[in-house]
Amino acid sequence: MNNKVKVEFWGVRGSVPSPGPETIKYGGNTSCVSISYKDKILICDAGTGIRDLGSSLVQDPNKEIYILLSHSHWDHIQGFPFFKPIYQPDRPVYMFPSLLKKNIVLSSLVEQMDGAHFPVTPDQVPSNFNFITHNPLAFLSKNGFDIELVFLNHPGSALGYKIKVNDITICYFTDNEIEPPYKKTIEFDQLVEKCNTADVLIHDAQYTKEDMPLKHGWGHSLIHQVTELGHEAKVKNIVYFHHDPERSDEQLDKLLDIEANWLKSKNSLSNPIFAQERLILEF
Ligand SMILES: [Zn+2]
Ligand SMILES: [Zn+2]
Repeated sequence: MNNKVKVEFWGVRGSVPSPGPETIKYGGNTSCVSISYKDKILICDAGTGIRDLGSSLVQDPNKEIYILLSHSHWDHIQGFPFFKPIYQPDRPVYMFPSLLKKNIVLSSLVEQMDGAHFPVTPDQVPSNFNFITHNPLAFLSKNGFDIELVFLNHPGSALGYKIKVNDITICYFTDNEIEPPYKKTIEFDQLVEKCNTADVLIHDAQYTKEDMPLKHGWGHSLIHQVTELGHEAKVKNIVYFHHDPERSDEQLDKLLDIEANWLKSKNSLSNPIFAQERLILEF
């Protein structure tokens, strides 16, 4: 068995899928990242990228699947009905609805399968949906994933996850506006403290200065703010995530160069990576 921690990117786009000739390199699927360790896989978000992940998991029926959601916006849930393991008889799939809101028992992943928005309803699905509402963090810890919740700045709120697995720390902070015009849930300094010296910081980097002021308050960060956060926190790998659907491969390549040069000029310890589909980081 492979004893490495494997972080894999299946969907790196924000807001809406954006396939086409302009987005071949980075990919057009919406948010989905997996973290595998031994016989377990933790999935962060179920945007359309989860479809490809599901196809790869079908061959591996013994792997236990845990799905965390940052929040229930479309680009984080829409791929779930197309996730093949849920059509495998008796396959255990664990979800954690109470992490998002108190007193909810059914995940929005499953609620969208209501017959109106998707034709197959949950009672027609042969896998076992397990909703862990009692002490979900203890359940995940018992299974090898120590998780701290981090409440982010986002309209309607979003949850970040600081995940520790086999001594590797991965911060999944997407749909976070580092400097919003509305009242902050978390300050910059607190974000620095949360991801301090993390091995991987995966952070929403949807906008550039040119997108402002129109999109100020829409719940996403400027690319350069993510660079400043990662550098300040001395994270080893800054992974820029949740790219704008309008951003072409060529534009993303240029933006990466700008951030890499800035980090170099500061003698930074942080390595900048623009997330792309099928990128794998192994530790
Ligand atoms: Zn989003
Ligand atoms: Zn959102």
